[in-house]
Amino acid sequence: MAKRDYYEVLGVDKNVSKQELKKAYRNLAKQYHPDRNKEADAEAKFKEVQEAYDVLSDDQKKQAYDQFGHAGTQGFGGAGGFGGFNGGGFGGFDAGDFGNINDIFEQFFGGGFGGFSGAGRGQSNKGPQRGNDLEMTLTLDFMEAVFGLETEIKYTRQNSCTRCGGSGAKDPSKVKECDECHGSGTVIRTSNTFLGQIQTRATCPTCHGEGKIVREKCPACNGETTRDETEVFKIKVPAGVPDGVTIRYQGKGNAGKKGGTTGDLFLNIEVKPHDIFERRGNDIYMDHEISSVTATLGADVRVPTVHGDVTMKVPSGTQPEHVLKLKGRGGPKFRGDGNGDQYVRLKVKIPTKLSKEQKKIWEQLAKVI
Ligand SMILES: [Zn+2]
Ligand SMILES: [Zn+2]
Repeated sequence: MAKRDYYEVLGVDKNVSKQELKKAYRNLAKQYHPDRNKEADAEAKFKEVQEAYDVLSDDQKKQAYDQFGHAGTQGFGGAGGFGGFNGGGFGGFDAGDFGNINDIFEQFFGGGFGGFSGAGRGQSNKGPQRGNDLEMTLTLDFMEAVFGLETEIKYTRQNSCTRCGGSGAKDPSKVKECDECHGSGTVIRTSNTFLGQIQTRATCPTCHGEGKIVREKCPACNGETTRDETEVFKIKVPAGVPDGVTIRYQGKGNAGKKGGTTGDLFLNIEVKPHDIFERRGNDIYMDHEISSVTATLGADVRVPTVHGDVTMKVPSGTQPEHVLKLKGRGGPKFRGDGNGDQYVRLKVKIPTKLSKEQKKIWEQLAKVI
């Protein structure tokens, strides 16, 4: 199957803002999420969306894609090339990278988006109402995402009022059945039309569908049954967490009403870029500058890794853009053992200014090569 245009996949145009792009991606990712969407091609579409977002959300890759189309995203191009650049899987969702793909979804989506589409909507006012889901974003520094972290999140959510036990009444024992609808929450209205009498069922105006009357409202929640409270809890973000995933915390959303279940909290993870390093799955990519002499003669050079500086052997005759692999020097594997690898692309620096002495040596060199 021919690859579809990434803009088409995400339904956006070329001038899309980062925010709009992210929004389009999130909506589609939710729509095609294999836990949620049981159609046969949902997983393929989900991956297609991931891949398109991975490219279009990255300035460098987007530029390459705009210029060269799909061919432009196969690597940086040029001598040596970053052949393995796409091997790490897009956005960290590639099954090859992390084992069982469904496993990840369970972890990160909690087995589906069951309550996402606004539970309670369209239901009668009467029965239990599920509390709303909440959504928030946690921005991590690059290293926090690489090594994982334990942190606290703090937000406001509606908790069931403890003063009235969620009844909304000052004295829950004094809640009376509504006289007008006799507790049913609805009333039948009869109107005369030219077709004859028509009966319609409507929400009771006296109790607003509650079926009962609270004479004295709970002073703590003003009869609302829930109160806004600050929620603080500790979370553990796993090492290697991919940018753009959503972690679901069941029961951490708003409290339900009338015995309805509590909504969930959806925590979107955003990872800040690093000055030097770039993450692809568990692997780290970076550019490193060496002198033309080092490239020619070879040398041991010190290069930074996420674990600290290491010595890397540059072989003699190294060509510009050559990529060296530092095995096991990438980030800790996301839900796995050991580390990914680090790939170092060598940038060979040609001197722009030479001292008299250096010039002499280069000139001597010119005579012999
Ligand atoms: Zn009523
Ligand atoms: Zn209350």
